[in-house]
Amino acid sequence: MSVLEIRNLHVSIEGKEILKGLDLTVKSGEVHAIMGPNGTGKSTLSYTIMGHPAYEVTDGEILFNGQNILEMETDERSRLGLFLAFQYPVAIPGVTLANFLRTALNARRKAVNPEDKGMPIPEFRKMLKEKMDMLRMDHAFAGRYLNDGFSGGEKKRAEILQMATLKPEIAVLDETDSGLDIDALRIVSEGVNTLRGKDLGVMVITHYQRILNYIQPDFVHVMLGGRIVESGGPELALSLEEHGYEWVREKYEGEA
Ligand code: ADP
Ligand code: MG
Ligand code: MG
Repeated sequence: MSVLEIRNLHVSIEGKEILKGLDLTVKSGEVHAIMGPNGTGKSTLSYTIMGHPAYEVTDGEILFNGQNILEMETDERSRLGLFLAFQYPVAIPGVTLANFLRTALNARRKAVNPEDKGMPIPEFRKMLKEKMDMLRMDHAFAGRYLNDGFSGGEKKRAEILQMATLKPEIAVLDETDSGLDIDALRIVSEGVNTLRGKDLGVMVITHYQRILNYIQPDFVHVMLGGRIVESGGPELALSLEEHGYEWVREKYEGEA
């Protein structure tokens, strides 16, 4: 079992503090929804877990199975079993999604076992087809060049396929930055619902209050002003759906 532990995390961008002492623990087998209004630091949290260089950690720690990951490069974090969507946001000319997935998978296998020679191509192709069938994706999608003209929904589909292939222990899935994209949320939720199980822990980050129509998280957290201010079960998401974030703002007024 894997554990991602975030303790008293403080993060600044360009000298401005965005995360102000955030605490969160996610274990494999658990699905956590991280909710909160726009501008509250949700994407900052996901970029910081990913190791984006623009996000400066000024205090606190992030531990993966007890090991501090803050000094690690993004790919090192990923090889440990942490899955970070948005990891390869750029289009890579001439690299198909299938090629990319095979390279990423083999890097992860080698991290687990240095003797590993990589998955043989026929075995990889078979595995990829099985995953695509499971996720009800068109096989032709794997032949597309990575992120080249991908729509928001296709990017999410590629992320989910990457998650299915790499079989991470903890995955962090941020919503699209374009705001309320129900199609993207539906793709992510269906993927998570298909892949969830005792070996996979997931953080789904969203500002979409009706998330329960799509996914049944084990835990729901509300972020406000750079911290998690409320944690609970699915009833918390219901309450946000009914009443919005106003009561959270009122309760924590002055702090955010
Ligand atoms: P959320 O994902 O919850 O909408 P973000 O983490 O994207 O919130 O943003 C939190 C705050 O950080 C906002 O005030 C935003 O303007 C600011 N911010 C985000 N990215 C940057 C950046 N690259 N440079 C400066 N400020 C940023
Ligand atoms: Mg603090
Ligand atoms: Mg965001």
